Amino acid sequence: MAVPFLDLKLQYHALRAELDQAIARVVGSQRFILGPEVQSLEEEMAQYLGVPFAVGVASGTDALLLPLKALEPEPGDEVIVPAFTFFATAGAAWNSGFTPVFCDVDESTFNVTAGSIAAAWTDRTRAVIPVHLFGQMAPMAEIRALARSKGAFVLEDAAQAIGARQGFPAATLTEDPAGMPSLSLTEGVAAGGWAMAGTLGDAGAFSFFPTKNLGGFGDGGLVVTADEALAEIVAKLRVHGGRQMYSHEMVGTNSRLDALQAAVLRVKLPHLERWAEARRRHALLYDEIFSDLPGVSIPSVASNNVHVYNQYTLRVDRRDELREYLGQGGIGSGLYYPKGLHLQECFAPLGGKEGDLPVTEQLTGEVVSLPIFPELNESQITEVGRAIREFYTA
Ligand SMILES: *Cc1c(COP(=O)(O)O)cnc(C)c1O
Repeated sequence: MAVPFLDLKLQYHALRAELDQAIARVVGSQRFILGPEVQSLEEEMAQYLGVPFAVGVASGTDALLLPLKALEPEPGDEVIVPAFTFFATAGAAWNSGFTPVFCDVDESTFNVTAGSIAAAWTDRTRAVIPVHLFGQMAPMAEIRALARSKGAFVLEDAAQAIGARQGFPAATLTEDPAGMPSLSLTEGVAAGGWAMAGTLGDAGAFSFFPTKNLGGFGDGGLVVTADEALAEIVAKLRVHGGRQMYSHEMVGTNSRLDALQAAVLRVKLPHLERWAEARRRHALLYDEIFSDLPGVSIPSVASNNVHVYNQYTLRVDRRDELREYLGQGGIGSGLYYPKGLHLQECFAPLGGKEGDLPVTEQLTGEVVSLPIFPELNESQITEVGRAIREFYTA
């Protein structure tokens, strides 16, 4: 039985009538740029996440770029980013005018920790971008505490983690006098001390790229924050730096969320929690199948995290051989990520070299991601598991 790595058509067909109607509504209105669809999505997202301000932008990349530009970096100002992430995290940092400084990650969660960030800190550090990789949140209480103690800005890269939650001991939140987004802003989900990914930094960035857990029919992104002034600046930067036409207080760019995308996303948002549940169910099945298989380590989830599994990623022996074997049997797999960003050619001027970030370098040789999209059925998961067990026990 062939199992695709991802099949977006299934989700489209399940919601086709509603989606087609939403698109027809925008086309009928001929209001394609910002307008009521984008504003409604912003309101619905802010409510879902429990955050006061949400600004739709053209992509997840721009959702990282614009808040960083709002900080008006001086040459040489540094932002700490993980080396084990999608390129955009570091690319946006670079393009904003910051110097990206790469840090390592934890080998069992794939995420940055306060310790790995602290190891990369210098007296030029002004910001840090914890990435919630594969749909699990990095430890925000510790990261916030570190950044607060040094006066640095925290931008959460939640592109893969929409709907992920993290539990907090109540004291962690109430002890935070500096006005960070906290329990009061996430009441919807936080009655028991849970907060949504993206709402615990000074700002959070989301992506609506089609393969993300909430995917549009093209590019799209969202910036969220509890800081009204910051939201205002990002809203200006997305329209050439002025809220009124032909009056520009700053040099922005064209980075609006498309109204057609907003309409599509508004249809999908009410299904997001159900889809995340399905992803977690699949992950649990995989965990059971692989828990005792030599040569394979299942992803570990911190006990205070609710994972949304944008990816289900194993660490395995003979990774490339395994992928080849699966491919021959018609089973899709993904490789996120094959190379640490500190070793990318474009960042050579930053001086990164082999051996600098050992965990990242080890992971890039061991990780493989399996099909995890919500519409998969149990027999497909079992089939992927069977093929992998066969590879390691044959
Ligand atoms: C997808 C992604 C982005 C960028 O989002 P785009 O919408 O593709 O620009 C940024 N960071 C991470 C971790 C991502 O996975």
